[in-house]
Amino acid sequence: MKFGKPELHQLPVPDIVSLGAYADQLQREAEARGERLPPPIRLQIGEPNFRTPEHIRQAAIDSIAGEVQTYGPASGWPWLRELLAEKIVRVNGYTVGPENIAISMGGTGGLLASLLATINPGDEVLISDPCWPIYLPQLQIAGAVPVTYPLDPANEWLPVIEQLEQRVTPRTRMLMINSPGNPTGAVFPRRVMAELLAFAQRHDLYLLSDECYDQIIFEGEHVSPASLLSRQEFEDGRFIGIYTFSKTYAMTGWRIGYVVAGARLTKTIVDVLNANLTNISTPVQRAAAAALTGPQDCVVEMRESYRRRRDLVVEQLKEFGRYSYTPHGAFYTLINVSGRHGESRGGRQFALDLISASNVTVTPGHGFGSVSDEYVRISLAATEEELIMGVKAICQLADRPSSFP
Ligand code: PMP
Repeated sequence: MKFGKPELHQLPVPDIVSLGAYADQLQREAEARGERLPPPIRLQIGEPNFRTPEHIRQAAIDSIAGEVQTYGPASGWPWLRELLAEKIVRVNGYTVGPENIAISMGGTGGLLASLLATINPGDEVLISDPCWPIYLPQLQIAGAVPVTYPLDPANEWLPVIEQLEQRVTPRTRMLMINSPGNPTGAVFPRRVMAELLAFAQRHDLYLLSDECYDQIIFEGEHVSPASLLSRQEFEDGRFIGIYTFSKTYAMTGWRIGYVVAGARLTKTIVDVLNANLTNISTPVQRAAAAALTGPQDCVVEMRESYRRRRDLVVEQLKEFGRYSYTPHGAFYTLINVSGRHGESRGGRQFALDLISASNVTVTPGHGFGSVSDEYVRISLAATEEELIMGVKAICQLADRPSSFP
């Protein structure tokens, strides 16, 4: 008897973890030699560097102190789902009721529950290259076959419909999209969303829209494909929207998100959630409710900080001659680190060299897909000083011909 699922154990340790550990190891080694390295600048992590606002924290404390803490409904408490239905109209531009919403363990839990509720083993799922890497193990767990479609770096990392068309087979079951996107920061314009929706309709596919960064938009608008559907079409169940409190309210560690879909499909997703986690804890749901009903200045302030940092990074990249596009949302940007004459050392080697040279950590682009091979991703969830120093170090290392073999 062999225990465990070997195919899952073979998943690589994500660079985001291993490179952070590598930087820590170099630090320890230097300390052991009695040397001092410059303090690490961590630009690899996609985590808001803000504290969860106080009124949100307080709501959880009040719940713990004042409420019985029993099991709750697997879909989440109705009072939170009512508030979320209002948020969906206000921010995402389409109309739903509480019966269309399931509270999940972050966007991550919502995604996995949605895949398990819709995908059969062997079904093909279209995902972008580059994309958020956790899609891959999730698809593997669901038994799906991932089929990648490229985003176009020459066109602000937008998808190209003809490329999608070429990848459709009789087994294709779902199109996954992510706007504002990780790792690109691309925001799909209304026209592109309409095309993607028409594509999913034409081939009778589920359209899973990861909108976890829906409120981190610097210019233009966030368009949910569901806002382009009639209520009847929405209820048919093609659309699945994935949302989270993690990014908008700096609540990554609280682990709360939600799925929005037609009522019938939502029931199936709730069945999966029920079997998996029973329910999200009540204090965390109270905190989420406080986030929605409380002042929204924190959302604006955080967004404006990200925008200032984005502008700073774009300006610096232009100065160093490494500008290629402007991210319009989320809090990441991809930087092309191939040499001046197109030489490549590969993003992972670059990331390791960067740690040795400047103690700056970035995420190599290949961890998100092959199209982003020559790129590294930096996160804007860092201070302005860290970003200035980090971008400078990246550009200088990329320009250094001597480090190429
Ligand atoms: N989707 C994307 C594109 C993400 O980048 C993330 C987090 N990095 C998530 C979903 C999930 O976030 P959470 O589970 O914290 O809601």
